[in-house]
Amino acid sequence: MWSPSFTTTTGADDPATAGTNHVPAMGVTHQYHRVSPGVSRIHNGSLTPSSEEPVAHTGTSGLIVLVVLSGCMSSQQVDNTYERFLDHVKQYHYLSGASMMLGWDQRVTMPEGGTPARAKQASALSAVQHDMLTDGDLAAMLDDLEGAVEGERAAIVREMRRSHERAARVPDDLVERLTEASANAHPVWKQAKADADFGQFEETLREIVDLRREYAEAIDPDRDPYAVLVEDYEPYIPLSDIEATLERLREELPPLIDAIGDSDVELANPLEGTYDQDDQESLVREALDTLGYDWDRGRLDTAAHPFSVGTQFDARVTTRFSPDDPLDALGSTIHEFGHASYTLGLPDNEYGTPLGSDRDMTIHESQSRLWENHVGRSLPFWRLFTPAVEDHLGVETEPRALYEAANRVYDDNLIRVEADELTYHLHIVLRWEIERDLIRGDLAVSEVPAVWNDRMEEYLGVRPENDAEGCLQDTHWAGASFGYFPTYSLGSMLAAQLFAAAERDLGPLDDDIENGAFDPLSEWLTENIHQHGCRYTTPALVESATGEGLTADYFLDYAREKYGRLYDLEN
Ligand SMILES: [Zn+2]
Repeated sequence: MWSPSFTTTTGADDPATAGTNHVPAMGVTHQYHRVSPGVSRIHNGSLTPSSEEPVAHTGTSGLIVLVVLSGCMSSQQVDNTYERFLDHVKQYHYLSGASMMLGWDQRVTMPEGGTPARAKQASALSAVQHDMLTDGDLAAMLDDLEGAVEGERAAIVREMRRSHERAARVPDDLVERLTEASANAHPVWKQAKADADFGQFEETLREIVDLRREYAEAIDPDRDPYAVLVEDYEPYIPLSDIEATLERLREELPPLIDAIGDSDVELANPLEGTYDQDDQESLVREALDTLGYDWDRGRLDTAAHPFSVGTQFDARVTTRFSPDDPLDALGSTIHEFGHASYTLGLPDNEYGTPLGSDRDMTIHESQSRLWENHVGRSLPFWRLFTPAVEDHLGVETEPRALYEAANRVYDDNLIRVEADELTYHLHIVLRWEIERDLIRGDLAVSEVPAVWNDRMEEYLGVRPENDAEGCLQDTHWAGASFGYFPTYSLGSMLAAQLFAAAERDLGPLDDDIENGAFDPLSEWLTENIHQHGCRYTTPALVESATGEGLTADYFLDYAREKYGRLYDLEN
């Protein structure tokens, strides 16, 4: 995934701040990575979606009617303005792409010593992008085009309008203060985490929360500030729907996790031991080959916190290797493959416009989790891939054992990025509740550690022994990122919903997966999700792909069935 962050610093040990470039006033730069926010990508969405329906193709007759009604511009004038507007939009996106690749370089290959120069380069690019997004000429063109174009053109106008307004409403000095505060916060957070001492970070966090509240107020003083912040990551799904989903997970997952905890079943772990990085790397490369990664438009590198970044012409993935856990590298790689496959599925001919850009974090994370969980954690996948594991790692095992190893549930785990498919969402619920209350002013910063620990105990039955394994574990808040966490869970819900819809259209996919025939699934995802870019709002895209709104039903059914069987639970 990726996250917004106001820093351009480097050397960070977490993707939220490391090498992220962004356009400050938007506060939206994305990285796609498995464990925390990562790479940068600008996405646009309109502040007030005019329609929840998919946008129709541009129709010439409709265009003429609208022009006559508006009485302002001839269709030739509209075309001319639109061409100028599109050129501006493309230049803006090209610069965003350059920022992203500088961020990749910073996190993957740049020597540490390059930091001061890179920070200045990133900041200069950010400033130019910010100016391009807020300038009066763009505003005038948006005014002229709104209502005068339709179909795909209207979708581009809608997305740029949203980005423009969000950026223009935030004063430059607030942008600068946020950038600076978050740049300064990173080392403070890092030291506090190393010392397991929230007290060292408290004042810094207070400052960041205050600045984020100011930012939300600048964008819209009349709305819930947390709802405004969430829209940096998920612009179109109403917060009430997001919260209802998280509340449902909070209610329905604990009984399942408790039943697993009470189960006598002990899942296999055939990969105990340590494994060479070279062997692990050849294994994950084979996984990427198997899934159909396009090496002509991609590459694999290592990063402390795996992420993915790029365009439809060049979508790169990273992974990490831990000697005693080859499944971590494999899972991370498959997750990032999912992000990259989305990026590669965006239409080539729309590169540089919102139609050739990813929709938002929910959609992005649905793609990574679909491949990671619904493919990579399935029994058919392990029937296919077990020989590769045996070859590369020099072990003798069987598909069922690896399937079990990939699906063990750890109900005593304190760390989000190490969590399994089920307990993961309770980690998200906890963070959502705390950040929401902080931003709404319902929770004092000083109370965060105690509330965190109490809720961990309430939701998962374990209590952190110190702040490092408690409220200091993630970098998001130090990166001034509030409202990002919920998209992780929404992405998982949507992954299950999309997989079910794909199986409705294509028939059961078990045989395809076991046979390594991934094209039908890839093509279904491209056709129903990737190729649309930002043409539709998120709810409209979900509806057109699955026939219904975003729901947790499919994830909960999948979870109960899969883990019920694995752990031999009743019903
Ligand atoms: Zn991700």
